Amino acid sequence: MARYQFLMLVAAVLAAVAWRWGNPFLVAADLLALVTVIGFGVALPGWRLFGPFLCTGPASRRCVALTFDDGPDAASTPALLEVLRESGVEAAFFCVGERVAAHPELARQIVGAGHLLENHSYTHSHTTNLFSVPRLQADLTRTQKVIEQVTGTVPSRFRPPMGLSNPRVFRVARTLGLTVVGWSARGFDTRVTEPERVVSRIVRRLGPGAIILLHDGGIPAERLVVTVKMLLDRLRTLGYEVVRLDRMLTGNDCR
Ligand SMILES: [Zn+2]
Repeated sequence: MARYQFLMLVAAVLAAVAWRWGNPFLVAADLLALVTVIGFGVALPGWRLFGPFLCTGPASRRCVALTFDDGPDAASTPALLEVLRESGVEAAFFCVGERVAAHPELARQIVGAGHLLENHSYTHSHTTNLFSVPRLQADLTRTQKVIEQVTGTVPSRFRPPMGLSNPRVFRVARTLGLTVVGWSARGFDTRVTEPERVVSRIVRRLGPGAIILLHDGGIPAERLVVTVKMLLDRLRTLGYEVVRLDRMLTGNDCR
């Protein structure tokens, strides 16, 4: 039973009891609380309300993983790849299908440099979380296909746009054999313009096994480069090892 199903069961029992007591205000308060909790659950991956949202790796080792969303981007992705190459760091790129189709050479560079290239939907629609099961399945399948055609690799992970989820997301992901991945630390790098603030925010939320969310789409290349260099310096100072997401999750390659 997923957490939301348990929650709905508890809310239904409480509502029935309150109704028997003849207390409509308590019934209304119970339903309002249920709607509020579900609303937060849609927006907060870490609550894992609708299914197994993967937001951290093992906490036993001082390893973290970098993830980059919304690319590939003609300017930011090559600049980022260069920083990662210089630092000897491998990351996971959650790419948008139509951007992979528009920049196939960048998608191949990502994979060729040893990074993971994962599924972040085909168009990054702001209404993805409202898609029906068939529409969502068609969207994710189209993304899987374009990534496979362009790079020869098939993604095994999906990150929903904006991290929004519902039971359908987990149903479709399970059908396609995809793990739904969230994050545990992010700095709102596309909105916050000072890299120092982005990095400080990430560091405040860090811990062993952290999955760090950054973007290589929707952010100027110069700002991304400064942010990533600053973050990698800070991680080194704090004694964290940056390991590719799949290896961080299995605990291999972590000290
Ligand atoms: Zn995104």
